[in-house]
Amino acid sequence: MVSREVQAHDTVVRFGNASVGGNQFAVIAGPCSVESEQQLLSVAEVVKQHGAVALRGGAYKPRTSPYDFQGMGVEGLKLLKQASEMLNMPTVSEVMEVSQMEAMCDYIDCLQIGARNMQNYALLKAVGESKKPVLLKRGLSATIEELLLAAEYIYDAGNPNIILCERGIRTFETATRNTLDLNAVAFLKQKTHLPVVVDPSHGTGVRELVIPLSRAAAAVGADGIIVESHLNPGEALSDGHQALTGPMFQQLMQELKPFVEAA
Ligand code: PEP
Ligand code: MN
Repeated sequence: MVSREVQAHDTVVRFGNASVGGNQFAVIAGPCSVESEQQLLSVAEVVKQHGAVALRGGAYKPRTSPYDFQGMGVEGLKLLKQASEMLNMPTVSEVMEVSQMEAMCDYIDCLQIGARNMQNYALLKAVGESKKPVLLKRGLSATIEELLLAAEYIYDAGNPNIILCERGIRTFETATRNTLDLNAVAFLKQKTHLPVVVDPSHGTGVRELVIPLSRAAAAVGADGIIVESHLNPGEALSDGHQALTGPMFQQLMQELKPFVEAA
């Protein structure tokens, strides 16, 4: 159902006043994790001011170590809702388990399925049965075909509002956190009508590489990017090393202007 053979025209996924797909180049931005009201609102204001169309932020965090910050949970969701209302900006946040669905649907506009849950079929069915748009991230070791089949689960359960996200895959290379597979973007754009966005933050894991890879994502034909930003990355509770500072986010938007405006 997600194939271009079934539907030739591009799917446009809308949530709040944002739309992803079609002729847009959408920038979704915000912190890796929601940490406090002040942290979230201050960075949300900056990314909104410079042209982000939606706010990201994790309240439930899939951390590699159980000793790392696990997210604020429902309190984080409430802060996202508050920021969303104050700034008139829809939100994207990760749902990690089916039991979180009710709270997520109350507070969040677009549900993110994280890389580690791309093949959590119970979760895919649950977001499929909900009416919320879904941002589906590619698994760390998932093939493009497996990503498309994961999207198929969501579609088959009744939800056609799916955004695919290339966020880097695990390869032999260790210089960067992951290897951003831009082949996948070009391939997916041919194969499926669903919008495809790129996450250059997790794709590289290195703040200084986020702007160049964002430009590359736009050039290869992605429908947008989802990037992490933090006004004080040295103090961030997760992924500070890959977060764009406020001035860097402004620079990013400056460099993406030809793509955002051409859209
Ligand atoms: C995130 O977006 O913060 C995240 C954990 O992403 P991924 O699932 O791609 O690792
Ligand atoms: Mn992160």
